[in-house]
Amino acid sequence: MKKLSIASFISIIIAIISGCGGGGGGINTTPTPPPTPSGYTITVSLSNNTVQEGNEVYVKARVSPDPPSGSVITWSQEPASPAGSFNPPSGFQTTWTAPKVSSPTTFTLKASLSVGGAIYFGVASITVQPQQAPPQNPPTISLDYPTSEQVVGTGTLLTILGSISQGSNPLKELQVVDSDNSLLQKWTITQPGDFRIDLSNFGSKGEKSLKIRMVDSINLYSETQIQVINDDYLLEEKAREFLRKYNVAPGDGGTVPFATTDIPVIVPDSLKQYWQTFQSACDFWNKYVPLLHLYPVSYTTNDYFIKVLDETNQSSNYVAVTFRTYGIHTVAEGYIHLYKDWLDEPDSAKIEALAHELGHVLLTPSEVTEYGSYMVMWPFVGDIQWTILPPIVQKAVRLLYSNPPAWTP
Ligand SMILES: [Zn+2]
Repeated sequence: MKKLSIASFISIIIAIISGCGGGGGGINTTPTPPPTPSGYTITVSLSNNTVQEGNEVYVKARVSPDPPSGSVITWSQEPASPAGSFNPPSGFQTTWTAPKVSSPTTFTLKASLSVGGAIYFGVASITVQPQQAPPQNPPTISLDYPTSEQVVGTGTLLTILGSISQGSNPLKELQVVDSDNSLLQKWTITQPGDFRIDLSNFGSKGEKSLKIRMVDSINLYSETQIQVINDDYLLEEKAREFLRKYNVAPGDGGTVPFATTDIPVIVPDSLKQYWQTFQSACDFWNKYVPLLHLYPVSYTTNDYFIKVLDETNQSSNYVAVTFRTYGIHTVAEGYIHLYKDWLDEPDSAKIEALAHELGHVLLTPSEVTEYGSYMVMWPFVGDIQWTILPPIVQKAVRLLYSNPPAWTP
């Protein structure tokens, strides 16, 4: 048995060598066609040599000579992973959808034909390119206010004004982050443009930077910083200083507020259509201390009040002018005259002008200059959206109306 096996093995090797010599020898200049039907040549052609991941390439197999009818070409790829997909999985024509790759990867697409128990192959190579991630730009943020260090404390709001623009992705939210990176407060903002937020949580005490961060839908962000001193004692000191400078009666240094925290604001019938405008101006102050209630002119009181006077049939150099009458330490009456220019202003400017004049009655008869053009007592920016009351002034209002008239700050 052993001898016989070796003999037949040798004869097979000889047969194969002779077969190879016939087909691939260097002597003949024209290749000998493969014998028919013992061999088939399969040529695979592709619509592209490279393709982006996830894209399709058109694949075609040509068999020479024609195989018997009913012969089927089946398709496979090497390496098998990551797997693309052939659709349909068999046939002379198909499409191949390239798999996801992390770097450019070359695959062999292989057509297989089975005829009479023998299998014939044809191949073609294709390189799959990963999708280049488009460059991602974060949103941008810039601040208009505050531009200098702010003293803040319990019960105050720090209004932050600025504008944002969108980067590569939709906007999601504005965050304020403490110096220790803890989130203090957030607001949903999905539209670019100007923003206004009122921060009420200042986190840890002391002097520090807060980050104002605009975050997009995939959590890319840009941030800018503001400086604050979160210190209740310092805040009260500054508020007292403000009252000494702008509110106290000359001579004895005592404060001059209304002697009540329920102050009627009386609107004339001729301006009834602006009720909501008056309400918005009152709300500006009531946000810090609830003080003001709107009433129609039919309301009568012998007590303290603020009265709005309709002078809108008159032109003046002013939008509005305010007078107040008071005793030694108590405001008794405030009169806000509205002129034609007020009527000509857009609604937001009407509110802002009223808030400004209400401030003259409630807090200080004079213009306040030290807080710049953003302070409600000195706005003249023509838009309530841009009118703010700094925390020190808020605290001054609270102190003024939680202490009796003549209190010495
Ligand atoms: Zn003024």
